[in-house]
Order: sequence, then structure tokens, then C-alpha cells
Amino acid sequence: MMNIEEILPELFGEKRVYYCQRCLNHGLREKRKNHKLLCSFRFCQCSNCIMVERRRQLNSRLMQIEENSSTTLAMALTTSSEEDHQMECTSQSENANESGGEEKDDGKPK
Ligand SMILES: [Zn+2]
Ligand SMILES: [Zn+2]
Repeated sequence: MMNIEEILPELFGEKRVYYCQRCLNHGLREKRKNHKLLCSFRFCQCSNCIMVERRRQLNSRLMQIEENSSTTLAMALTTSSEEDHQMECTSQSENANESGGEEKDDGKPK
């Protein structure tokens, strides 16, 4: 018996049937399953295929970050808070200069 998803994949939306993104870039609909090594475009360097590859690498990197997130997140938080503190210091000195100018203006007789 035929699988209805193979006959009418549009009925189930793109999310149900995973086509090879590289083949889609070139107008081909190839099921992704067991296709990676057979893909005609697996070494393609066109801009669309490069984007697909980049997104794939980004996703795998995000997965790795999530896996050991506790230490990475903690480090990121501490570094960012230090930067915020430095930003505060600079902005405070700028504010002091501004307020000084305002005080001069207020000192003028009206
Ligand atoms: Zn392909
Ligand atoms: Zn391509």
C-alpha cells in the first residue's frame, strides 16, 4: 500500500516531508532520508547552498551550546555584567560634564 504522504506531500505541509534543501535550491524535490551521500549538489557552492550549509552549521553549534549551556551561559553573563559596569562609569562621567554645563546656565541671572 502506498503511503499517502508520498503521493500528496503538499497535504501535510513542508514540515512533514523533509526534502533536501540543496536539491530544492535547484528545483528538485529529493527526500532527505538516505540522500546525503547521493545528493547531486552536496558539493555545490552556489549562494543558496552555502546559506543552507551555514544554517546547518549554526544549528549544530547552537545545539552544542545548549548541551553545555550552564558553564557557557554563566561565563557570558559575568563578562556582559562587567561590560555594563564599565558602560555605567563612562556614562556617569558624561552626565557629570552635562550637569556641570547646566549648572553654569542656571547660575546666569535671568
Ligand atoms: Zn540533495
Ligand atoms: Zn547549489
